[in-house]
Amino acid sequence: MRRPFTNDFSWSKSRHEKFQECLRSYYFFYYGSWGGWESAAPEAVRELYVLKKLGNRYAWAGSVVHDAIKDALLDWRAGRTVDPAKVEARTHKLMREDFKHSATKGYWTQKYRKTFSGLVEHEYGEPVSDEAWKQNWETVRSALGWFFGSRWPELARGLKSAQWLEVDAGADFSTFTLDGVKVFAIPDFAYLEADGTPVVVDWKTGKARDGYDEQVLGYALYVTQRYRLPLEKVRASLVYLNDGVEHAVHVDRDAVEGFKARFTASVARMRELLADPSSNTPKDVSAFPQTEDLTPCVRCAFRRPCGREAAVAAMKVA
Ligand code: SF4
Repeated sequence: MRRPFTNDFSWSKSRHEKFQECLRSYYFFYYGSWGGWESAAPEAVRELYVLKKLGNRYAWAGSVVHDAIKDALLDWRAGRTVDPAKVEARTHKLMREDFKHSATKGYWTQKYRKTFSGLVEHEYGEPVSDEAWKQNWETVRSALGWFFGSRWPELARGLKSAQWLEVDAGADFSTFTLDGVKVFAIPDFAYLEADGTPVVVDWKTGKARDGYDEQVLGYALYVTQRYRLPLEKVRASLVYLNDGVEHAVHVDRDAVEGFKARFTASVARMRELLADPSSNTPKDVSAFPQTEDLTPCVRCAFRRPCGREAAVAAMKVA
C-alpha cells in the first residue's frame, strides 16, 4: 500500500537559509503552502503553493545551466556525443518558451516543467529592462561556453562506468540521515577518480558567496554515507562557471564536526517553532514573524499574501 503523503520534518541548506532570512517566508514555504496542489485546497493555500514555486531571473539562469550540464553529463555517461552548439541553441529555445509561459502567468492555470514554473518579476510586474533580460541569457551562454571549453567534458568522457557515482540525482534519491533527521544533499556531480578518490562537484553561476563551502560539506557527508567511502578521502569542488574559477573545499574531521554542530543548532531552532515535533505541526503563524529588514522582501514571492507588496513596490520606485 502506498505510504500517505505527509509533511515530514527534514533539513537542507536552503531550508536553513530561509529560516535565517525570514520566519514568515519559512512558514509559508514549508507549512502554509502544504497541500496547495490538491484541487480542493483552500484558495489561500493554493496561492502560497503557486507562489512558492516561482523563482527570480538569476535562479532561473542557474537552473537552466544546471539542467543543460546535467543532460550533457548523462549523455557522456551513456556514451553519446554532445554538440555544445546544439545544447546552447536548445537552452535558448527553452528559455524563450519559459519566458512566454511566465510572462502570461501560465503558472496559475497550467503545469509546465519540473524545474521551472514562473518568475516573480512577472508575477509582481517588476520593471526589468530588455537589456537586463538579455544579460540573463548572456550569463547562461557564457557559463555553458566556459563549461564546454573546460577540463570537465574530457574528464567526464574518460570516466569508466564504475567511476560514475551520480549526476544531480534529485530529492527522491540524494538524502541521508543525520541524528535521525532526513537531510537533502544533492551534488551536481559525484565520481571516483582512477585511484578511487571520491569527488563531489557543485556548479555555480554568478559570484562566490558565503555558505557554499557548507553546502559541499553536506554533499561530502552524503557520499560517504551512501557509498560507504572514507570521509578523509573525499574531495569537494565548487566550480564558478561565469568566472571560470574552481575552488577546492577542504574536507576533514574538523570541518565536518563544525558542519554537524551547526546542523544540530539549526534543527533545534526549527523544532522550537513546532507545536508537535512528532507530526511536524508548526505553532501558530504568529510564532513566525515577518523580517524587520525589508531587504529579503524585494526578492520574496510571498510579498502579496504577506501584506508587503505595496512596501516592496515603493522601495523599487524610490
Ligand atoms: S515579504 Fe518579506 S516579511 Fe513577507 S514573507 Fe517575504 S521576506 Fe518575509
